[in-house]
Amino acid sequence: SLRAGIVGLPNVGKSTLFNAVVENGKAQAANFPFCTIEPNVGIVAVPDSRLHVLSDLSKSQRAVPASIEFVDIAGLVKGASQGEGLGNKFLSHIREVDSILQVVRCFEDNDIVHVNGKVDPKSDIDVINLELVFSDLDQIDKRMDKLKKGKAKDSQSKLKEEAEKSALEKIREALMDGKPARSVTLTDFERDAVKHLCLLTMKPVIYVANVAESDLADPANNNYVKNVTNVASELQSGIVTISAQVEAELTELPVEERQEYLQSLGVSESGLGNLIRATYDLLGLRTYFTSGEKETKAWTILAGMTAPQAAGVIHSDFEKGFIRAETVSYDDFVAAGSLGAAREKGLLRSEGKDYVVQEGDVMLFRFNV
Ligand code: GDP
Repeated sequence: SLRAGIVGLPNVGKSTLFNAVVENGKAQAANFPFCTIEPNVGIVAVPDSRLHVLSDLSKSQRAVPASIEFVDIAGLVKGASQGEGLGNKFLSHIREVDSILQVVRCFEDNDIVHVNGKVDPKSDIDVINLELVFSDLDQIDKRMDKLKKGKAKDSQSKLKEEAEKSALEKIREALMDGKPARSVTLTDFERDAVKHLCLLTMKPVIYVANVAESDLADPANNNYVKNVTNVASELQSGIVTISAQVEAELTELPVEERQEYLQSLGVSESGLGNLIRATYDLLGLRTYFTSGEKETKAWTILAGMTAPQAAGVIHSDFEKGFIRAETVSYDDFVAAGSLGAAREKGLLRSEGKDYVVQEGDVMLFRFNV
């Protein structure tokens, strides 16, 4: 499944957030920089109200949501790319994730040490960015040395090497400017040629502005959040505002008291759902559903996938033997009330192998085995 890595300087609220996200409280949040050294992995459901609507309509025995893996990657500090503070290990953990959630401290609390002495989101983001940039530069230089030796045997691999070289030159220039690789315009061919390097600054980033509970109702009023918003747009990244502390407290409350607590803070829902959804969207993910008596299930696909590819997410045999897909949009399904009713009303379309699956489609695959 897809993985999102939670990074950030020490004491910004990563573990608190992670624990809230996975609701298991395993990693101890403590006022200590190297509190969680091994990365912790938690699998979370992607909240989606449509799942339950469909499940009720189909009288399904169970509803199975889509999921994302969150990895708590603690300990990224200044100097990590130079191997300080177990830094290299953390960078290699980052290499393995599909997207990065950088928690940025936007709350003041004199009892909680800030590694650089004061709350300063722009500087915190710069510190982490620079480590990722250094690491990428290092990797690119090593790779360029190899490419210069020009080992390509045939014209096909020569072309690929050329594409990789030109991409790396462009990326290198951006990195020297402090800009992430993801900000560089590349052709599809070039992008493909550098994929194997898993460059850290190529990964999509969401800045998670961790605010005090008193700022939750109106985060735009908080100057730290304003700073993060500006940096995020400069660095082609997203931003989500959250209070890790509040999320942690929520997980400890009985479910029926949570809503009241949120209302007392002036908000209507937990920020975690938002964060998980934003991560999902950032990765260009889409959801389609299968829905029957046994179960209603949300499936994750990439934007642009065709019906056979989407079927392949369920089972590779579905893709190989694909004949057609009976498809109805979520809204039409709900309006009709069931798959059978949708069929009677002519809302159930028969789609072939070129059909690009749309967000929220409810699908029934026909295939040969
Ligand atoms: P990490 O080092 O980034 O993983 O940070 P932790 O999650 O361990 O948090 C460090 C300390 O900050 C802990 O004592 C947390 O309780 C506290 N903390 C985390 N989030 C918040 C917050 O939103 N507000 C306040 N006041 N404290 C927080």
